[in-house]
Amino acid sequence: MIIKSLYQLGIWRRNPSLTKHLTFLLKSDTWSKEQLLEYQLLKCKEFLEFVYEHSAFYQTTFDDFNFKPSEFKDLEQLKQLPTITKMTLIKYNRLIHTNYPFKRMFSALTSGTTGESLAFLKNEEWDSRNRAAMFRGYSWYGVHPADKNGYLWGYNIEPKQTLKIKWLDRLQNRFRIFSYCPEEIKNFAKNLKGAKYLHGYSSMIYEVAKLVNRSGLKIDHDLKMIKGTSEMVFDSYQEEVQKAFGLKILSEYGSAESGLIAFECPEGNMHIAMEHVIVEEEDGEILVTNLLSKSFPIIRYRLGDMVELADTDFKCSCGRAHPVILNIAGRVGVKIIGKTQEFPGRMIYNVIKNLSTEHGITLNYQARQHIKGVIEIYIEQNKDDSQYILEMELNKYFKNDIDFNIYYGRDLHNMEEKLNDFITTIG
Ligand SMILES: [Zn+2]
Repeated sequence: MIIKSLYQLGIWRRNPSLTKHLTFLLKSDTWSKEQLLEYQLLKCKEFLEFVYEHSAFYQTTFDDFNFKPSEFKDLEQLKQLPTITKMTLIKYNRLIHTNYPFKRMFSALTSGTTGESLAFLKNEEWDSRNRAAMFRGYSWYGVHPADKNGYLWGYNIEPKQTLKIKWLDRLQNRFRIFSYCPEEIKNFAKNLKGAKYLHGYSSMIYEVAKLVNRSGLKIDHDLKMIKGTSEMVFDSYQEEVQKAFGLKILSEYGSAESGLIAFECPEGNMHIAMEHVIVEEEDGEILVTNLLSKSFPIIRYRLGDMVELADTDFKCSCGRAHPVILNIAGRVGVKIIGKTQEFPGRMIYNVIKNLSTEHGITLNYQARQHIKGVIEIYIEQNKDDSQYILEMELNKYFKNDIDFNIYYGRDLHNMEEKLNDFITTIG
């Protein structure tokens, strides 16, 4: 109980407005599509007017495009504005930041796959509403953020920091694995007693599940939710995790600058947090407008992911009217370079996915390309009859334009960082 109240005290101090926003989101959770759209339009207009008044960058941009927030009355009008990228946010960082004197702001720092890092300030309401959206997702599973939870993050922690992190974890009723040795995993499994949820990188959750299954550890747990962040979830992960913990990994989608975009419901669909973000799709690419981002406005932002949105008349059996993202299909612009032509970076993933759906073969893999026309595929599973089918399928898609070197029985994970399914130094 003490830990619980300490945790709540922490929340109260850092995010004083969170409870209020969560109460609102739990109400809007049952709104109709019309109600949601009406609210979104209202919030968007308010946001654009605020931005126009307080951000030098957007003031100039709006004027250049003859865009008048005061005349905003249809979400379609957003399309009159240009899109921005992470480079825009880095290059015009100071001018994008608004001059409004917020009482409290938090520093945020993101590092991208390209190595460019982005620093910005988040006003308290933005941070609190964003957390509230995450906690609403938890509530769909009967999980309270103060519930005991296991955290599976990959990065190695310096011994000096261990003590501090252990304390912070205690405050948040959280426990984690500090190394992936069998003894630690055993401890972790013991700790699961009384825990309500697990979260972290999907590949880490998978590794632990595998060790749990192999060791035959009998785990006494009452987990209600397993949340994977930042990575794609292979089908084989789900099998292993289901076997170990009796639950599937659910996805949460978003980024620091875009905020939480979508959260997977118990029916397996990722619902867009319409109260906070406007999602557009342009040639398969996602564009996000973050209506909370008043200190550092994010409008029509190219997050860099390819997505597939459900049709507007799609209805999820959970009853929520919030639109659904069916699939996040990899990064924008990553290419596989063949001898005579180029292929989308997602093609290998599609082949492996087909193997699973059409042939019942699940493989964990990582593909790497450093030379034109040649790709190495590292596979975790051991070599068996599936090799023939894999080669046949690859050939079906890539013809003879790419030579594949396939290595079986490989350890894909170094336990230190998230796992990329395709690494290229030339595409
Ligand atoms: Zn649903």
